[in-house]
Amino acid sequence: MTIRMRHTKSHRNKRRSHHGLKETALSACEKCGELKLSHVVCENCGAYKKRSVLDVLKKLTKKQKKQKQKELKEQEGGSQKEMSMEELSQK
Ligand SMILES: [Zn+2]
Repeated sequence: MTIRMRHTKSHRNKRRSHHGLKETALSACEKCGELKLSHVVCENCGAYKKRSVLDVLKKLTKKQKKQKQKELKEQEGGSQKEMSMEELSQK
């Protein structure tokens, strides 16, 4: 026997209020600033908890390698420059 109870639109809608998909929680990488999934190694620079874990350049071709290295260098240089500027302002 099935239980037959009144199912109003309100009932149905309240039940379905939990069915929506949530936005994926992305956070900025601590090393390169790229958006990445939290608790997952960064795909851009291969870092996890500020430490490089993956060799990102391994799978790339020579041309791609050069480009990627340039990108990473620029990002690191930029962050270092910002740090030094902050330090200077503190002194
Ligand atoms: Zn990164």
